[in-house]
Amino acid sequence: MDELKKQGLQKKLLASRLNYIKQLPGKIEKIEETWELLTDNPWNVERFQTFYRMVHTIAGSGGTFGLPELGDAARLLETTIKPQLESGEQPSDKERDNIILNLKHLIAISETSLQKTAEPTAKNVSKKTTVAKKSRQEKSLIYLVDNDEKNSKDLATQIDNYGYTVQTFSTLSKFNKAFQATVPTVIIMETQLPDGDGCKALSIIHKGQSQYIPTIFITKKSDLNTRLKTVKAGGRAFFNKPVNVTDLIDELDQIVDVNDSEPFRILIVDDSVSMAKYFSLILRDAGMDTVVVTDPLTVMEPLESFRPDLILMDLYMPGCSGLELARVIRQQSAFVSIPIVYLSGETDLKKQLAAMSLGGDDFLTKSIQAEHLVLSVTSRVKRTRTLRNFMIRDGLTGLYNHTQTKEFLDLEIERAKRDSRPMAFAMIDIDKFKLVNDTYGHPTGDLVIKSLSRLLKQRLRKTDLVGRYGGEEFAIILINTGAETAERIFNELRVAFAKIQHRFEDIVFSKTFSCGVAIYPGYEDGTAMNNAADAALYKAKDGGRNQVVFAKE
Ligand code: GH3
Ligand code: MG
Ligand code: MG
Repeated sequence: MDELKKQGLQKKLLASRLNYIKQLPGKIEKIEETWELLTDNPWNVERFQTFYRMVHTIAGSGGTFGLPELGDAARLLETTIKPQLESGEQPSDKERDNIILNLKHLIAISETSLQKTAEPTAKNVSKKTTVAKKSRQEKSLIYLVDNDEKNSKDLATQIDNYGYTVQTFSTLSKFNKAFQATVPTVIIMETQLPDGDGCKALSIIHKGQSQYIPTIFITKKSDLNTRLKTVKAGGRAFFNKPVNVTDLIDELDQIVDVNDSEPFRILIVDDSVSMAKYFSLILRDAGMDTVVVTDPLTVMEPLESFRPDLILMDLYMPGCSGLELARVIRQQSAFVSIPIVYLSGETDLKKQLAAMSLGGDDFLTKSIQAEHLVLSVTSRVKRTRTLRNFMIRDGLTGLYNHTQTKEFLDLEIERAKRDSRPMAFAMIDIDKFKLVNDTYGHPTGDLVIKSLSRLLKQRLRKTDLVGRYGGEEFAIILINTGAETAERIFNELRVAFAKIQHRFEDIVFSKTFSCGVAIYPGYEDGTAMNNAADAALYKAKDGGRNQVVFAKE
């Protein structure tokens, strides 16, 4: 390997290591959680296998990423649970105690390993790099800098209604002070402020910042010169005052990426451990999730549990070839459309073509450049996800469509049953919606529907499921949620929606919704729960609308 390549890989390895360390606490937490689920419920063999697999992964990866003690601790736990995995039997009390002991050891080691890795780097990390979290659960922080305080307050209230946290500043110096303490997710900035030029201030900030902070400029001026200045200052978007709030929120949503933040899942099938690891490193470095299978005959289990977006497949493996394996995979209806990309040392064109005709989607040689691999995989996964989205999502709002939501409801009831956890299902219908269409026209009605869908996406957890059930009707599944929490959440949503100001030309109006909720346990299946929520919704309408009503079991 030439020197340059080696350096590139070193960099990649280092980056992968950091990424691994970042994800480690979450992984350990998952292991702990799975064990608790195992012991709190009737013994579940599948869950135990998951538990084993997660421990096994840490055992294999700890050493690779420079945390040998962690790898050893995981290996110890792995050895303790292997007998039960092979026999399929529940552990005895004594064995359980042993597992718990080793699990606790693993947790402790993971904490000390993390501390060790944090110490040397902590000194180098300046305050500046602590960017506000961007996940939906933790609200995104937005700094709004504008000296027109009335306008500023108005805008802040509107944005806040969509689940963002907004802080307003009337001068650059106040903004700069806050920025030193906490870096926001997005900056909205007037170009002209009493104590200086917004564009200049932004250029300076971006120079001292390792990470780009998306900035939206707002101004009364719209001449080309002003626009050019904002672009040069690193502005991502430009809005004329008075700001169209719908468009602004669209922009914010795009920045925070509420729709598609799930990392791509790539399954790597290659009998060569080092090759598989190398590809895995490159893809993980690009932010994807990977699972590696080195024995082609064990591919079915991760296919089902990991649900990959794409399979990266070696062509020549002992036991069966990549082509044969692809055929077996594609014979199952659930995996008919999964893209398969072959990676091989094979450069013979005839063989490549044969591979493609058997349902493989692409063919890459193993000498492929890292960037090229990432690009090929990214474009394929994006395309597949888009196609899938067409099938299961509603065009106007991007929410799950009726069929998909019903399917989720059935699935989640089964899961709630299995885990003995509660679950809430709600139906929401906008009040007197026909009036909006009749008064302001259909397009304005569409905007109202979109604003509610956006509010739901923003305010709910990533694990909750939101669907558009019909015209102005929505359905929501709150996983692991009982009546008390559901009541609080739906009432908060109800109040937030009523506060949103919709616009038609110069007219500002607001709308309300009614909501019917059913809580599991108490229903056998999705249809029963659906009917109960629907009946509760009718009661809410009957009772005067703008309210949340719970179904009686
Ligand atoms: P209620 O408070 O009883 O729910 O009254 P409502 O007017 O909201 O109820 P109704 O079901 O009578 O009216 C719903 C209207 O929604 C009728 C339909 O034309 C309209 N609608 C359905 N889908 C869409 C859509 O995608 N966009 C728009 N703009 N309107 C839609
Ligand atoms: Mg309605
Ligand atoms: Mg309706």
